[in-house]
Amino acid sequence: MVEHVSSYYAATAAVTERPALQGSIRTDICVIGAGFTGLSAALHLAELGYKVVVVEAHKVGWGASGRNGGQIVNGYSRDLSVIAKRYGVEAAEHLGAMSLEGGDIIRQRIHKYAIECDYRPGNVFAAFNKKQMHELEALKANWEQHGHLSLELLDLTALKQHVNTDVYVGGLLDKRGGHIHPLKLCQGEATALESLAGVIYEDSPVVSIDYTGAEPLVKTAQGEVRAQYLVVAGNAYLGNAVPELTAKIMPVSTQVITTEVLGEAKCRELMPQHTCLEDANYMLDYYRMTADHRLLYGGGSVYGGAQPADIIAKVRPHLEKTFPSLRGVTFDFAWSGNFALTLTRIPQFGQLSNKVYFAHGYSGHGVTCTHLAGKLIAEAVHGNASRFNHFSNLPYYPFPGGRLFRVPLTVMGSWWYIARDKLGI
Ligand SMILES: Cc1cc2nc3c(=O)[nH]c(=O)nc-3n(C[C@H](O)[C@H](O)[C@H](O)COP(=O)(O)OP(=O)(O)OC[C@H]3O[C@@H](n4cnc5c(N)ncnc54)[C@H](O)[C@@H]3O)c2cc1C
Repeated sequence: MVEHVSSYYAATAAVTERPALQGSIRTDICVIGAGFTGLSAALHLAELGYKVVVVEAHKVGWGASGRNGGQIVNGYSRDLSVIAKRYGVEAAEHLGAMSLEGGDIIRQRIHKYAIECDYRPGNVFAAFNKKQMHELEALKANWEQHGHLSLELLDLTALKQHVNTDVYVGGLLDKRGGHIHPLKLCQGEATALESLAGVIYEDSPVVSIDYTGAEPLVKTAQGEVRAQYLVVAGNAYLGNAVPELTAKIMPVSTQVITTEVLGEAKCRELMPQHTCLEDANYMLDYYRMTADHRLLYGGGSVYGGAQPADIIAKVRPHLEKTFPSLRGVTFDFAWSGNFALTLTRIPQFGQLSNKVYFAHGYSGHGVTCTHLAGKLIAEAVHGNASRFNHFSNLPYYPFPGGRLFRVPLTVMGSWWYIARDKLGI
C-alpha cells in the first residue's frame, strides 16, 4: 500500500482510506487518477447524474494535486498575449473567456460542499527588475481586455504590504486568486463525489486500457472497469498505462519545504496580508504562510522529474535570500512533486477516441485549470463539446529529441531564459 509523500499537507489533512478495485464492474464513467483533473471531471459528471468510478493508483491527491504550492493562480502557463500571437486572436478570446473559471469553481466547491481547506484570497506576482515589472504591466493590460478587472499593480511600498523583503521592485496583485491546502481540497472534493454516489478505488494502478471495442475497458492488477466513457487524468504520473499520452508531456519536479511553526507575529511581519506569491522568473519561486503559521516555500524545478538528493539544500538559499531574517530556521517538511510540461506550456485537452477524454500538461499552473478541464470534459460527455474543443483544437507540438533527448534539449533551451532573468534583459 503506497502512502502519501511525507509532506506538511499529509501531516495536517484528515485522510480517508478507500478500498482497492476487485473484480469486474460496469459504470457510466471511469476516471483514471484522483487528482484535481480527475476529481473535477468526476464531480461535475456526478452532478449531472452519471454513475462515476474513479480508479487511483495510490491515494486521493497523492500526485501533484495533493502536494503543490496551493496557489490559486488564474489563467494559464502561457500569457493570453502569447496565445493570441501563436494561435490567433479568436483562440485567445475563447481561452481568455474561461481563464477565471477554474478559480471560481474551486470557491463554489468550497462553499457548496463546505470544504475546509484553509482558503485565503489574493495572489501576487513579484518582479525582480524593471523588465519584469513592464511585463506585469502588459499582463494586466492584456488580462483586462479579457475582462479580468480584479488586478492591481503594486509599487515597492504597496508590495511591502504583502511581502517584507528587499529583493523585488514591484508586483501585481490578483484579488481573484488565492491559496488553499490542496490535499484538504482533494479530500473534500472526493467526499463530495461520494455524497453523490461516486465510488473511488485507491491502491489500484491501471495497467492497461482498451478502447477498440464499443465500451472502453480499464484493467488493474485485480479488477477491471467497463464504462461508456473514460477520462484519463494521470498527468505527470501516468507512467506506461497509456503510452500514447505519456509521450506527449515531460515530467518536471519542483520542490517544497516548510519551516517549523514561526508564530502568527513573525508570519504577519513577513507576509502581512496572508496572500501568496510567485516571482516572475522563468524558473520561479513560490511561497505563502500556512494556516498554522509556517512558511511554505517552493522552487528548484528539475526537468525529467528527478527528486534532488537534498531538497532543503536546493531551496533554502532562495528562501534565505528572500527572507534573510529566517537564516538558520529549521525545516519540518521537504518534498518533491512532478507536474507535466508541454512544449508550448499550454495545457493539452483531447480525445483518444470518441469515448476517451484526457487533459494534462498544465505546465506548473494547474490548480485552477484542472478544475476547468474537469468541467469542460463533463460538458463534452454531456453533449456540448464546444468549449472543450477550443482547447483540443489547438495544435500539438512534440518535444524535440524524442523521449531520449527531450530533457537535455529542454534544459539547454531554458538556459537562455534563466540567463535573461539573471541579467534582467
Ligand atoms: C510541487 C508542486 C507545486 C505546484 N504548485 C502549484 C501551485 O501553487 N499552483 C498551481 O496552479 N499549480 C501548481 N502545481 C501544478 C499542479 O499541482 C498540477 O498542475 C495539478 O495538480 C495537476 O493535477 P492532475 O489531477 O492533472 O494530476 P495529479 O494531481 O498528478 O494527479 C494524477 C493522479 O493520477 C494517478 N495515476 C497516474 N497514473 C495512474 C494509473 N496508471 N492508474 C491509476 N491512477 C493513476 C496518480 O497517482 C495521481 O494521483 C504544482 C505542482 C507541483 C508538483
